[in-house]
Amino acid sequence: MTAAPLLLLDLETKEGVVGRSYLFCYRDSGAKAIAEIIKEATELIDGMTVAPAKVSELLGRRYALLGVTGVTRMALAAIDIALWDALAVAANMPLATFLGANLDPIRAYNSDGLGMMPAKEAAEEALKLLEPGFDAVKLRLGHPDRRMDLQVATTVRAAIGDSVELMVDYNQALMAHDAIQRGLDLQDQNIYWLEEPIRHGDLQGYAAIARELTTPIQLGENLDGPESVYDVVAAKAADYLMLDVARIGGVTGWLRGASIAAARGVPVSSHLFPEISVHLLAATPTAHWLEYTSWADSILEEPLQVSNGYITPPNKPGLGLQWSIEGIERCRAD
Ligand SMILES: [Mg+2]
Repeated sequence: MTAAPLLLLDLETKEGVVGRSYLFCYRDSGAKAIAEIIKEATELIDGMTVAPAKVSELLGRRYALLGVTGVTRMALAAIDIALWDALAVAANMPLATFLGANLDPIRAYNSDGLGMMPAKEAAEEALKLLEPGFDAVKLRLGHPDRRMDLQVATTVRAAIGDSVELMVDYNQALMAHDAIQRGLDLQDQNIYWLEEPIRHGDLQGYAAIARELTTPIQLGENLDGPESVYDVVAAKAADYLMLDVARIGGVTGWLRGASIAAARGVPVSSHLFPEISVHLLAATPTAHWLEYTSWADSILEEPLQVSNGYITPPNKPGLGLQWSIEGIERCRAD
């Protein structure tokens, strides 16, 4: 994937407060479908109080038959995030503070690159990703030949040294037996976590992999709604959980999902949307790692700043999202 549409939402209340959010839409058709649902859903809530949990309940009922999943889930999440932003903006507090947290620095890894690539290129790119001040990077593996995975991982590890954390993401590419074998191949490479080795819904498969490997298993960017966090935790399917604010149900869904994870002491990281997730991780009892990507930087006036491997929620009202009009014009897809 070299390009993807972002969808920006400005939700204006009758008092004139604007709540903002954005979505990473993966495909053009996704952006169009989500925009269509947002348009209809905002008409359904016109005149309601800015009470995100109540709005989420109502829209959940209105869209129950269509199914609150996929693009519908993402559309409703965008509205939920914008409503929380509006509340925090109206209170003149950063969202993290509004949620009862401090503006604590969150550990962040650079996820801006390291797609499937040959060993030498991967090693060079890993070093480049550390330059802005990170001390952790994520590498995508799942090459057809498992020896290639090992070669890429060992070359990257040798280049970055032992003090840098190295996460590995398979994006659901493997079968369970292969995932166990590849995990064993990598066990001397000090891998921080193995992410989504197999199809995300195969919780029995995950539990088997987690039992066999000492390297922690990371799962969750595809979890659909907070209830699904319970399923993963109950099945002991993963050591770590990673929530995607658009798929978990916005801020409301994140808070519920993070509470379920906290009840079992499972560390929670974020997937994409670092500008939003940094506030949510600050308010997450078992906060772990922020996934940093710069993919929204071109449409923002003040992109997030990393300092010694940490990113702190900005001390501005709400999420602190300020659109760059010039950037938006440059990237506009229509
Ligand atoms: Mg992933």
